[in-house]
Amino acid sequence: MKTQLKSMQALPPFTLNERITHLKNLSKVIKQRQAEIISTISEDFSHRSEHESLLAEVMVCLDEINYTLKQIKQWVRAKTWHADWKFFPSKCSITPQPKGVVGIMAPWNYPFNLVVGPLIAAIAAGNRVMIKPSEITPKTASLTQTLMAEVFSADEVYVVLGGAEVANEFSGLPLDHILFTGSTQVGKIIMRNASENLTPLTLELGGKSPVLIGDDYNIDKAAKSIVAGKWFNAGQTCLAPDYILIDAARQDELIEHLKKHINKAFPKPDDNPDYSCVVNPRHHQRLTDLLDGIDEQQIYQLGKAGDSRKMAPTLVVNPPTSHPLMQNEIFGPILPIITTENLSESIDFINARDKPLTLYLFSNRRETIKTIKEQTQSGSLSINETLVHFAQKGLPFGGIGHSGMGSYHGYQGFVSMSHMKSVYYQSKINFNDMVRAPITQFKEKFIAMINR
Ligand code: NAD
Repeated sequence: MKTQLKSMQALPPFTLNERITHLKNLSKVIKQRQAEIISTISEDFSHRSEHESLLAEVMVCLDEINYTLKQIKQWVRAKTWHADWKFFPSKCSITPQPKGVVGIMAPWNYPFNLVVGPLIAAIAAGNRVMIKPSEITPKTASLTQTLMAEVFSADEVYVVLGGAEVANEFSGLPLDHILFTGSTQVGKIIMRNASENLTPLTLELGGKSPVLIGDDYNIDKAAKSIVAGKWFNAGQTCLAPDYILIDAARQDELIEHLKKHINKAFPKPDDNPDYSCVVNPRHHQRLTDLLDGIDEQQIYQLGKAGDSRKMAPTLVVNPPTSHPLMQNEIFGPILPIITTENLSESIDFINARDKPLTLYLFSNRRETIKTIKEQTQSGSLSINETLVHFAQKGLPFGGIGHSGMGSYHGYQGFVSMSHMKSVYYQSKINFNDMVRAPITQFKEKFIAMINR
């Protein structure tokens, strides 16, 4: 890996024309091979809904490439920055420069999108790229390697396969930037490894994304959106709703509407092609264990849980906050519902925990929206809908605190993968001597005059 990186670092960054060609070729291969991409992911998962893969692995990437191709000529241009009047008529600019070789480390839950999304940003910014896909979805990792080799030479984009040991070595390489997507726990290891080389990082992590339902909002509408967002990919989404906060008076109504919409969207989950599997038996066991110690009367499982890799959509009413279900990111089809007295108690509940990747608010009341915007912190805030903020072209995506550091998508991805170099051009007319030693009486007066 080290030798490969060295040889890539010795080569020049991509020109604008090369970037455009690479992105177009990438788009072409994704389009040509989309059926294979979808079926391979499904093999890795035992079963992954075809439409979920089409929407969240293929379409999102093609959209991002199209958007980037439309914008890139503007992004690469140096931007004029006005010099301070004291230095008139000098000039400044902000000139984006490729960082060099970017390392991309990806998780298994959207194993194609979370490689290709960061790759688009890295290439748009002119970087060569090394990729470490997740070992938990090995068939997709191997297909990714094949597809990359069809579009790029090994010195342009290089894919390394392997598990945690390889990932450890990878993150310790003197890369020029790392974009890591994965768990908060592993994110800390990656940051430690990268610090050895002072490699800058974008950390796209996870956490518990809360849903807050305001007392003004239509429960049926909220439940419909929550069901779509929570059980997409069987809850294995970094920004899936992790738990719901609602006032006690409306809890029963919410449970009824959630049940209704689950039964409508995913009837008979065990053999419903629209409902995805849990990625592997280890995660299935982890999720099953998460229900240990909870009174059966607090659990509603909608459909057969079975021994298969599918786990039925599951609601848990008011689990203790000290229970593992409320301590760790769930990352599966279980949704706890917590009752609070009022908005202020819900805000305190959220603020007492790590800053989430996304906060979902259901309310049309301006005052409530303003309060949540101002009094909570989260990577993103999504009002009256789940998940789709991820797919907004050009809208930066990233966490804060334990849910991540930095962001990407659109121009923000380009900026994260570029060095935004400040350039100063001294004009021939130069008054700078007026503040430099030897300081005469005249200069002293001049300094006093400009000191305002
Ligand atoms: P993970 O952290 O276990 O793995 C991610 C990557 O880290 C993989 O490439 C893996 O090989 C590597 N890795 C694993 N253990 C390692 C170790 N000990 N040392 C060094 N590298 C190691 O994450 P995961 O289970 O694949 O994915 C789930 C997590 O990712 C969830 O927390 C989810 O919220 C998060 N996620 C975040 C986003 C986002 O955009 N913010 C998107 C998807 C998933």
